[in-house]
Amino acid sequence: SDIQNINLKDLVMDVVTNLQYKAEKADVVLKTDLPQNYVVSADRNQIRQVLINLIDNSIKYNVKGGKVTVGVKPWSKDNTRVLVYVKDTGIGISQQHIERVTERFFRVDKSRSREDGEGTGLGLAIVKHIIQAHNEELFIESTPNVSSSFSFTLSRADHTSFKDEPNQ
Ligand code: ATP
Ligand code: MG
Repeated sequence: SDIQNINLKDLVMDVVTNLQYKAEKADVVLKTDLPQNYVVSADRNQIRQVLINLIDNSIKYNVKGGKVTVGVKPWSKDNTRVLVYVKDTGIGISQQHIERVTERFFRVDKSRSREDGEGTGLGLAIVKHIIQAHNEELFIESTPNVSSSFSFTLSRADHTSFKDEPNQ
């Protein structure tokens, strides 16, 4: 892998801009929530692929007039990690299926998907593989017919202890 310093806001904006046409076609609003920029240490192409796979799903498994939000927020108490999240207002995933969605070739509704003519069930297996290779964490939460949230941690390259601590 090729670990480098990445401007996270630039990378997220770039991917979101490139998927905007796909969201519009599906009548889904794709927006960002990036109040602060971070420099993280990671493989840019791999994290780009993670974002593409997650946002693609959040558009694909959404409802007409639905919403997708891609955001970044602080994660660890010591301020060394951030959480990148992709949340949607889509069809959701039942509890029994959540643990299986990162398995290779696993798809919740194979018959419906075949009609759509899209998807091999590899996107989330790739996401899991990349996040694990970075020694980071992947979280999946969902409420059927309401929303899903896929999030992962990244490690900051721009953090220096003391400087970012409040009250110092
Ligand atoms: P591919 O990504 O290879 O084109 P895929 O989208 O079917 O195909 P994954 O991205 O691995 O495969 O997702 C696996 C399954 O998990 C999907 O088929 C879908 O049933 C479910 N899933 C993934 N993301 C979401 C989501 N945001 N909302 C609801 N279901 C989801
Ligand atoms: Mg997919």
